[in-house]
Amino acid sequence: MKVNKSRRKFLGRAAAGVTAAAIVTPRSLEALALGAQAARGASAQAHTSKPPLAVSSSNGVAAVTKAVEVMHAGGDTLDAVIAGVNIVELDPKDNSVGYGGLPNEQGVVELDASVMHGPTRRAGAVAALRGCKTPSKVAKAVMEHTDHILIVAEGAREFATALGFEDENLLTEESRIAWLRWKETLSKEDKWGPSPYVPAPASPAGQRRIALERERPSFLLADRYTGGNFERRDELLAWADEVAHKPPTGTINCIALDASLDISGVTTTSGLAWKIPGRVGDSPLIGCGLYVDNEVGAAGSTGRGEEVIYSNGAHMVVEYMKRGSSPEQACLDALKLVAARYGNDLDKLKDVDVNFYALNKRGEFAGAAIWNGSFARNGELRRRQFAAAPDGGKGRLFESAYLFERKA
Ligand code: ASP
Repeated sequence: MKVNKSRRKFLGRAAAGVTAAAIVTPRSLEALALGAQAARGASAQAHTSKPPLAVSSSNGVAAVTKAVEVMHAGGDTLDAVIAGVNIVELDPKDNSVGYGGLPNEQGVVELDASVMHGPTRRAGAVAALRGCKTPSKVAKAVMEHTDHILIVAEGAREFATALGFEDENLLTEESRIAWLRWKETLSKEDKWGPSPYVPAPASPAGQRRIALERERPSFLLADRYTGGNFERRDELLAWADEVAHKPPTGTINCIALDASLDISGVTTTSGLAWKIPGRVGDSPLIGCGLYVDNEVGAAGSTGRGEEVIYSNGAHMVVEYMKRGSSPEQACLDALKLVAARYGNDLDKLKDVDVNFYALNKRGEFAGAAIWNGSFARNGELRRRQFAAAPDGGKGRLFESAYLFERKA
């Protein structure tokens, strides 16, 4: 790579901002240069709002609108964010949160959630909770009814039942088809997949069917489910293939500030698709997927939970804000901790997706991601975004700041 003089200077400055732990290679220097560029560019358009304000991950446009409505009506900040995320938890089409979430490796949906109430400095959380569409409400019940913070697995289920939460099936038909597709793709040696030898039927139609079945047995389920709507079937199968090969993550984090300058937050998720039963991500861990300090601000995360746990992400974002950083700079600095664990190596980081969201008591807010976006199947770059309902208005999407740029 040719490096001209001014670029050398720029790279030097960028590298100086990295933590001492980072291994700085030529490749990582390039990445850091991008990071510095992104941080400078994005801070030119810092976002500020009068309260009430709600901020969330990009799947939360309706959630932030709802949260602001609740705060306008005099509701508490925690009730506001929970009412917001309940919309997404109950939406079967969002397969990263609540009902309709993609299941664990056994086909069972397990949910994680945490809440923090700024004014009373309390928190509650549940992890690996089964059978409850709104784990955020159970997390709040942990906060209100116990002196514990986190209850997991069967204990969480028993606690939810004791509090009157129904035990329901959370697996939608779409999620089940995707899960079965994933099982089929695992191994040619196991029993999930075509039988090694099936005699060819005589008719051309029978032969076509056997060929399809051999290639992808879940085709039959999808065909039955979509009842002759070939477009829907093919769409469902394409999606099932995508999530089977690249297990998606997804979550909703929502944080809010009201007119009394009180702050609360919630994070709720079905976690990593096809996870080992009992796997817990960052979302229910206070300080990782969510942190609130009523004197400073709030932060939350989505994306690869293991990375956020390593970096204690949300707590670090709030800590940086406490020391004077803007929400955007604080999010970018916490993302740099994640990148540093990979020696800032872009090849190693290419599949690492982490997003932080933050707001402070002054109404400044931001979202930031490791990458500027991801490429859609048609080759278009989908910019990373976050949702916010500023100035007590309706929710809309904003572009996230970022550390690194993906190049086509
Ligand atoms: N952070 C969540 C987890 O790791 C998933 C996500 O946000 O994508 O469980």
